[in-house]
Formats: sequence, structure tokens, C-alpha cells
Amino acid sequence: MKLYDTMAREMRELTAEDGENFRFYCCGPTVYGPAHIGNFRTFVLQDVFRRVLQLSGQSTQHVRNITDVDDKTIRDSQAAGKSLGEFTEAWTAKFRVDCDALNLLAPHDEPSAVEHIPQQIALIEQLMAKGHAYKSDDGSVYFKVTSFDQYGCLSHLDQRELRDGAGGAAVADDEYEKDAVADFALWKGRKQEDGDNFWLSPWGEGRPGWHLECSAMCKEYLGDTFDLHSGGVDLVFPHHENEIAQSEAASGETFARHWFHITHLMVDGGKMSKSLGNMYTLADLEERGFTANELRYVLISGHYRHPLNFTLQSMEDAKKALLRIGKAGGALRERAGGDADEPDQQIPRGHDFIYFKAAFESLLQDLNSPEALGRIFSELRELKADKMSAEDAQAALNDLEYILLALGLSLPEVEEDKQVEVPEDIRDLAEKRWQAKQAKAWAQSDALRDELLGKGWEIKDDKEGYQLCPRS
Ligand code: AMP
Ligand code: ZN
Repeated sequence: MKLYDTMAREMRELTAEDGENFRFYCCGPTVYGPAHIGNFRTFVLQDVFRRVLQLSGQSTQHVRNITDVDDKTIRDSQAAGKSLGEFTEAWTAKFRVDCDALNLLAPHDEPSAVEHIPQQIALIEQLMAKGHAYKSDDGSVYFKVTSFDQYGCLSHLDQRELRDGAGGAAVADDEYEKDAVADFALWKGRKQEDGDNFWLSPWGEGRPGWHLECSAMCKEYLGDTFDLHSGGVDLVFPHHENEIAQSEAASGETFARHWFHITHLMVDGGKMSKSLGNMYTLADLEERGFTANELRYVLISGHYRHPLNFTLQSMEDAKKALLRIGKAGGALRERAGGDADEPDQQIPRGHDFIYFKAAFESLLQDLNSPEALGRIFSELRELKADKMSAEDAQAALNDLEYILLALGLSLPEVEEDKQVEVPEDIRDLAEKRWQAKQAKAWAQSDALRDELLGKGWEIKDDKEGYQLCPRS
């Protein structure tokens, strides 16, 4: 499988360092409310990534953390009058329910920051001993950015900017303005507003800085070096840059061998935010009558390296597209005279595609999910279930199940009575009209459409192809 690497700025073949297991880490949710559909764009794409890797024959170890202590979780747990643990536990549970609904494979390990305080303290001690960190007057500990020559290697920060900016004001915030290079907090000295949320350390009471948890948990579960690290594009700087600095300064080894970042989801052409009232959750969409399967379809309908614009219309389109796949699957099933072999939802290691091979190839080339969807529809259009042998139909149905398994989509059940028998001559005419349209032979295409209308059949076009319906 090939994937674009943010650090190398080129496409790279993915390999497991140990030759056996592909070990990767995804920055997980901050559990202070329900995850929104933007978060799920990232988690769904990471899930498709894992499915494709496994279906290509690779075993994996997938680690995704839970951020259960930071400025926001503390602030909102206090506002809710709950302990931090009680508060974050409830939102973690909700996150898992949403993940199940969206058919996300559970990570092999799902560690939380609060469960790994000793590991984070040990990492700071190592950085202090090597001269990469210093204690400030308020009991906080900072990473000294100028002590790490490679700082900026992931986000490709301008070297001059680094020289001028580094060593300036130290920042205690977990997030700060992009490109504002500053020493960042590894440990935050206890403040009154933190309430009961503090731990003992060699530098006094306090809590870890946000960037540190991922470095500590990567080391704990994957070792100093592992195969791939992933997150939304907003994490490139400062979060991942800081993770690299902490981990590599401490270990002297390469941290992640590949960096995979997913571009943000936009809503109605703009940024998603609570104040604009356009921050959708899965529950919001379910209330409007949509399903998690449809949301998953929308989230994979754009390439991960491009922004994806979410609209409610895109959910309607997904509903139709899935219905079309369901109908095609139904026709194959009828011809085959039986169901597909149910693929193992745990994802088998390797699958040889006969049908939908081109779609799987798209996924192997930089996880091109929109192209894969396009190729599924092209192939479904070309397959004529009623002209296939029962064995071929069975094989096509099996492979359809497997390509949907790669994407994590479920084959929708289509009610039998909604399927309309289309006579062969009508289908041939419709196909000719589609070919004419594809060739931009507009006059011919219009004439064929009229001919079909004259015979009582209407054509409805959309992005993926056309549908034939009896004239109303
Ligand atoms: P958070 O819960 O804020 O820590 O974010 C969890 C994951 O969602 C991270 O990998 C973020 O980079 C990612 N993320 C946040 N907002 C968006 C968005 N609008 N589109 C895609 N990914 C996002
Ligand atoms: Zn992280």
C-alpha cells in the first residue's frame, strides 16, 4: 500500500519495521462532549486505512488514546459539577457507542492519559537529565525547543522563523497559534482552577501538558520507533511537532516512520463551530432520519488530502447511492440463488479480488476512497446480473461484500417489491444513452432519452450514473 507521508512530502510504500506487524498510533478524542462529524472524518479514514492494510495481507496493531485530562475536560467537568473521572468516563462511553454505530474497528489498545501519569513523569525526568527541559518558577516544566535541532521537521517551519522565535515566551496552553514557536509545557504546576485534578511529581503538584501523553503512550505500547502516526491536519503543528521533539530527544531514535494526516471536514462551505450552530454529531443526523452507514459513506466520499464539504444534501445523495449498491447486490444475490459468504468482520488477512479489483487498487494508492466508490459503481453498471452464471454472480457478490468491508460500509437491504423489472431492450437503450452522454454526444443522448420516454421509461441521472423508472 502507498500513502502520502507528511514529513517526506511524497508518496511512500508502507512497510512494517519488524517485517510482521504494522504498528500505528492515532491521536484519539478529547472526551468533554460528543465527537462531531469532523472528528469522525479522521477516525473513519484511519479505520479504512487499517481495513485496507489488513485486506492487503498485513497484520496490524492499532493504538488510539483517550485524552481525559486537559484544559477543556477540567473546565467542563467542573461546570457539570462532576469529578473529572466521572465526567470523562461518560463521554468515553458515548464515543464508543458512536464508533460502533459507524462500524469502526475497536483499536487493539485504547489507553488514557490519566492512566499513564507515571510514564509521563518518567519521560520528563529523562528529558531533564539530558538537558532538554527546565523547571520554571511556578512549578511547571518546559521543553527547550532550541535544544532539539530537528524541531520543525514535520511542519516544515521556516528555519529562520524558528531561530528568531524559539526560546521566546514559554507557553502553558495546550494549543497555541500556528507558527508561534515557543517552549511548551511538559508539566503544568498546580493552579487553583485545576481543583482536585493534580498529581505529585518530582517538581511538585501539577498535571501533564497535553502533548506529552501521546509520546508516553506511544513508547508504552509501540516502543521508541513505530510504523505510522496519524491525526487530523490541525495536529501537525504544534501537537505532532512537539511529540517528535519529546520522544526523539529522549530516545535518540526515530519516532514515527510515516505521518498520515487527514484534511478537515467543512460544513456548508465553512468551518464547523458551535457558535455557528453547524457542528453536527451522529445523533443530530440520526434525528433527521439518516443512518450511521450513510454518514460513513459521506465521510469517505472525498479524498483524505482534500477538504470535504459536508451538506445535508450529501447525506441524501449517500442514501441514494447506498440504495443503488443494495439493489445491485440484491440482483446478484437473486441470480446466485443464495447469500454471499459473510466476510469476517474482524477483517481477514488478505483477500484476492476477482471483481472490484480496480476499486481495491484505488484504496492501495493513497487511500483514494472516492475513486474506489466511482469504480464500484462503474463495475456494478457493467455487470449484468441476469446474464451471469449463478457461480459468477456468487463470486461477484462475495467480492462486493469484501470491497464494502474494506470501506466499512454495510450492504443495505432493499425491499424486494421496490425492484422493478426492466425489459432487456429498454436496458440496452438506456445503456446506449449513458455511453452517448459520457462521450458528450448530447444530441444522440437526448434523442435516446426521448425514445425511452416514448416507451414509458424515464431516466434519472446523478453523480454515479443513472436510474430507470417507469414514467409517472
Ligand atoms: P479532538 O477530540 O479535538 O482531540 O480531535 C480528535 C481528532 O479529530 C483529531 O485527530 C483531530 O485532528 C480531528 N479533527 C478535529 N476537527 C476535525 C475536522 N473538522 N475534520 C477532520 N478531523 C478533525
Ligand atoms: Zn497525540
